[in-house]
Amino acid sequence: FVGEDVTRNLRTIRSIPLVLRTEEAVPQRLEVRGEVILGIEAFESLNRRREKEGLPAFANPRNAAAGSLRQLDPRITARRPLDIFCYAVGRVDGRSFERHSEALDALKRWGLKVNSNVRLCANVEEALAYYADTEAMRETLDYEIDGVVLKVDRFDLQRALGEKSRSPRWAVAYKFPPRQETTVIRDIVVQVGRTGALTPVAIMEPVRVAGVEVRRATLHNQEEMDRKDVRIGDTVIVQRAGDVIPEVVRAIPSMRTGKERRFVIPDRCPVCGAEVLKSEDEAVYRCTGLSCPAQLKERVRHFASKGAMDIDGLGDKLVAQLVDQGLVRDVADLDYLSKEDLAGLDRMADKSAQNLLDALEASKLRSSSRLLFALGIRHVGEHIAEVLIDAFHTIDRLAEASEEDLVAVYEIGPGVAKSVVMFFGQEENRNVIEKLKAAGVRFEAEEKRAVSEPHLKGKTFVFTGALSSFTRDEVQEIVKRLGARATSSVSKKTDYVVAGENAGSKLEKARGLGVTVLSEEAFKELIGMK
Ligand SMILES: [Zn+2]
Repeated sequence: FVGEDVTRNLRTIRSIPLVLRTEEAVPQRLEVRGEVILGIEAFESLNRRREKEGLPAFANPRNAAAGSLRQLDPRITARRPLDIFCYAVGRVDGRSFERHSEALDALKRWGLKVNSNVRLCANVEEALAYYADTEAMRETLDYEIDGVVLKVDRFDLQRALGEKSRSPRWAVAYKFPPRQETTVIRDIVVQVGRTGALTPVAIMEPVRVAGVEVRRATLHNQEEMDRKDVRIGDTVIVQRAGDVIPEVVRAIPSMRTGKERRFVIPDRCPVCGAEVLKSEDEAVYRCTGLSCPAQLKERVRHFASKGAMDIDGLGDKLVAQLVDQGLVRDVADLDYLSKEDLAGLDRMADKSAQNLLDALEASKLRSSSRLLFALGIRHVGEHIAEVLIDAFHTIDRLAEASEEDLVAVYEIGPGVAKSVVMFFGQEENRNVIEKLKAAGVRFEAEEKRAVSEPHLKGKTFVFTGALSSFTRDEVQEIVKRLGARATSSVSKKTDYVVAGENAGSKLEKARGLGVTVLSEEAFKELIGMK
């Protein structure tokens, strides 16, 4: 099983039957693909309710649907009027279909909900007419669409066409042009994201774009703002493309009165006051403060996560409470929590408080490369953290390294080097590190285990889906060092398929061919990382 288990939440969706209708024989096993949606009206009333309760509004119906589905408590999901459209079948045992349309019809007869606007088209002209008809009725739907998907109906032809690296050759998304409206920018503010990125956001006179009220739109970054010459007070064109965040397309200079003002991103973070820096390789400005409250929850979560300090029992809700109550102002504060601190928190029994303190104590013994990864330095993933500790042995020595020292290390590029130097250059970050050290967290490299695993020599790997600890380049490099190789397509000759999150057709193919499938964790074990 890969990904998140949302079964209990799906059971609360009324249009998903708990039992299939059986007037017609049902297969022993039926895999159904579907998309869970939240209607526009339901979305808007949900957001109004959230605003009243002081909760952040969802950006769009799609985010709201995903957020609702991932609730830990199915009772919350049950209160959201979610719906589903089933659009394909996966594995079906005891029944075979020759056509996609035939499969969809069967789903309907078994009691599953299929979108009523699906149409079987005999040729390209009919497909284009379908596109035009659908665009014309787009506004009347209670859900958002950004286009249509055209699929080849016959399964034998689908198989003959096959797949490209990421998508099938027998299906294509045909998008509608984005919807645009005109409005006025009242103000421009800076929003600090969870990764520290400062994004200029236009606050506008509310305007309805493609059925949804828009009050805020992203201006992306300073360069974009300058290029488009968007100013406070400007009349502008805004657009929404599908579920993407609304954006300002351009200003209309002929509507200017002369009172418009340009906006410049501040050089200090509006949330924490730390220095804001722009790296040369990207247009984004970032807050460099390690204890910036805007970034803190996400940083603490990352710090405590499995591949990092692996602090058992420190879940999202607890992190939020610790930060909101001011008990944790930087990641090092975790190691200074007392039983009394924890006793004041919601649903924190004496025993769970002690368990958390034990887990925190245990986390101090994690390897220094995991600590380095846990610090959340940009571009320093799990693997790069190991490379850096291999080269510098201690975090203190790494902190003294210059960009030249860093790029001299095999696998370390200028992006990583810059980001490491920038991180350790901040006094605040150094303070946090001193605090961690004083708490007894391990800072020295431990004995290195053998990296070479000769049993992997000559083996072929295929990676699919998103891996949480490595980038694609990293895994390629790792298997190469072990004498194995990574290829892009699965065949009978493939030795291992490593499936990350949202693994798709390659995973299915591997299962079909009986190729060994590994989770990311199992892969780490295989290469001796565990
Ligand atoms: Zn900040």
